[in-house]
Order: sequence, then C-alpha cells, then structure tokens
Amino acid sequence: MKRIAILGSTGSIGTQALNVIRSHRDLFSVEVLCAGSNADLLIEQAIEFEPNAVVIADKGKYQQVQDALDHHDIKVFAGADSMADLMEMDSIDLVLASIVGFAGLKPTLRAIEHHKPIALANKETMVVAGKIVTESAIKNHVPILPVDSEHSAIFQCLIGETHNKLDKILLTASGGPFLGKDREFLEQVTLADALKHPNWSMGRKVTIDSASLMNKGLEVIEAKWLFGVEVDQIEVVVHPQSIVHSMVQFEDGSIKAQLGVPTMETPIQFAFSFPNRIESPLPRLSFEQHSQLTFTKPDTETFRCLPLAYEAIRRGGNIPCVMNAANEVAVQKFIDGSLRFIDIADFVGNQMAQARFIPNPTLDDLFETDNIIRNQSR
Ligand code: NDP
Repeated sequence: MKRIAILGSTGSIGTQALNVIRSHRDLFSVEVLCAGSNADLLIEQAIEFEPNAVVIADKGKYQQVQDALDHHDIKVFAGADSMADLMEMDSIDLVLASIVGFAGLKPTLRAIEHHKPIALANKETMVVAGKIVTESAIKNHVPILPVDSEHSAIFQCLIGETHNKLDKILLTASGGPFLGKDREFLEQVTLADALKHPNWSMGRKVTIDSASLMNKGLEVIEAKWLFGVEVDQIEVVVHPQSIVHSMVQFEDGSIKAQLGVPTMETPIQFAFSFPNRIESPLPRLSFEQHSQLTFTKPDTETFRCLPLAYEAIRRGGNIPCVMNAANEVAVQKFIDGSLRFIDIADFVGNQMAQARFIPNPTLDDLFETDNIIRNQSR
C-alpha cells in the first residue's frame, strides 16, 4: 500500500488523482490532502478518503474545516508553512505535487529534502528552480516522476535506453484553442474563448497558458531539467489531436513515441504505480476514431510566449523565475479583465528585459525575485 500526500487535492490534477486512488484502493491510500481555499471540497475529500491530516492554505478557512472534521480522526492544519512541514511525515510514501504556480515550490522542495519520491505535475517548480530541485533530488536519492502527459511520455520512451544517446526530444503541443489564428484575431479574444481548450479539461491557469503557448514554453524548461538535455535538443511539434503525447529521437534516427487517449489519469496512475503498470478502467485509443494524426511547426511569430521561454532558459539564472512570476501576474490580469490576451507576451517580455540578472541564484534569491516581479508588475 503506497501512502500518498496530495498537494493541491481540490484542483483538476488533484481530483483526477483521487479518481485513480478510488479505482485502486488496494494499492494506494491517502495520507495527506492539501488545498488552497476550497474548504467545502477538501472536507468532502477528507470524509471520503480519511487521510491522517489535511491542510488548508487559506488560514481564514481553518475553523470551517476543523469544525466539519471534528468527529473524524483527521488532523487539521492551516497555512503554507504547515503544508511544507507536513511533507516531513514518515508515513508519506509519495507526494503528488499538483499545486498550481510558484506556491508549489516550497512544499515540493521540503518533501525532496525528506526523501519523499515526487510525482510532479507542478511544472512551475522546475521552471523557477530546476537546478536547485534536481540537485536536491540527486543528493537525497529522490526520484521525480513526471505527471505532465508530455513528460510522462518522454520518461516512458526513455525506459531501457539509459546508455543510448539521445538526439532530441519532440515535445508535442495541441496548439490550444487559437491554433491557426493570427494576431488580429488574438486582439479580440475573451476569457471564455481562452478557456475552451479543444482536448483537455484543466485548471484555469494552465488552460490560459495552453492558449498562449506559454504552457509549452514552461514544459520545454521542465523537460530540460527532468531529462538533463540542452534546450536546443528540445523541439516543439504541433499535434492538434493530442494522441501522441511526445517522442524521443535517438542518435540512430529512430523515434519512439507514447500514445493514448488525452486523459491525465493515465500519467498520474503511471507515476503512482511506477515501475509497474496496473490495470486501468479508462477507454482505449481507437485508431478508427483517430485515423489522421498531423504534425506541424508552432507559429512563434504569433505566439510569442514560446520563444520567450527559450530565451529565458538560454539566459538562465533567475530569468525563468522572472518569466514565471510575470506570467502568473499576466494571466491573473487577463482573468480580471485588465490585460488583453494578446498583451500577455509583451507584459512578460518587458519584465524579463528589465529584471536584475542573478546568474547563480540561491533559493532566497528566487523567492526575492518572485516577490519583486509580482509587486512591480501588479
Ligand atoms: P487547478 O487550478 O485546477 O488546481 C490548483 C490546486 O492548487 C488546487 O487544489 C488549489 O486549491 C491549489 N492551490 C492554489 N494556490 C495554492 C496555494 N497558494 N497554496 C496551496 N494550494 C494552492 O490547477 P491544475 O490541477 O490544472 O494544475 C496544477 C498543476 O499541474 C499546474 O502546475 C499545472 O501546470 C500542472 N498540470 C496540470 C494539468 C491538467 O490537466 N490540469 C496537466 C499537466 C500539468 P483550491 O482550489 O482549494 O484553491
């Protein structure tokens, strides 16, 4: 029985992870549930899965959760520090890092420092602090198992290939809801348009990042750190059907791909069960329904966030952290209606151009960078 802690249990990934656990009660149990502010759902999840402890980041919701779980044998905590502290619990066998954004960094790092294997969905952790996170994982002998479907695909393609030289990673992108559109079209798009992803049902931030292709940029940086490749070895390929989840090309020219229906439950389950594969009740891929699989180059003239991410990781230091913070603010501004979709890339690019460059940032430098960029870009 693997005892799992879920950071971000009330989100899209968190709830799908609970579906996986629900289907495999004999293999997985819930040890800790952590949420941001959705107290009602956290309470419902706690009553169903009976974890050892729950944490709500929003301290104002503590009493509501405590009162609701009063007659259950479940410890209740509140605040970001408690969330990180709980990652030290001996009874946790695996941590699913599925908080959205920079807030996921601290508890994930704490879990690594306490030797907990990580199932990683929170790509921002790798974007902001990939060097620090990977060094800590190596030092503490902690595996980081990718949950992002593209990275899970690459990880699966690399199994058994440790001694073989990689030419490149072919990271697939659906292209999002605005695939094929020009800048004039993007000037008019609304929040509702950006939230209509053709293939995936996800949280708001990642859905908007998918529409701007910033999500693919974040994934390029995530792949660089997870697989130890140079950024020039990562090529983005637009594949609107989201059936080929990503590919790897080796030095002999052979390409391996991983395919499946677009559902996050498959990569979540693989991260939970690794190195084994276990039965899944999910629908199988039908080639009759998907007889056309297409691949094209991304339009980096229109979707400027993707080249910005390449620029950020090439410049290195604290610049990916700057990019991430500016993007988080820009997405929030777009949600609030104070920034147009088309202006997200300029907003992020301006912050990257103006930021003080720190070539070898410490964790404190990264927290400070994040704070400065958020304050000045708000
Ligand atoms: P959601 O917005 O659906 O969920 C985010 C989760 O994080 C919620 O549980 C939320 O809690 C919690 N949270 C937000 N802010 C805080 C905070 N400050 N402290 C603690 N918890 C917080 O996001 P997704 O599930 O879509 O995405 C999560 C991560 O996974 C992202 O990094 C995303 O890029 C990545 N990912 C997502 C995919 C998907 O299909 N959804 C696919 C691949 C990667 P609450 O709701 O209670 O406020």
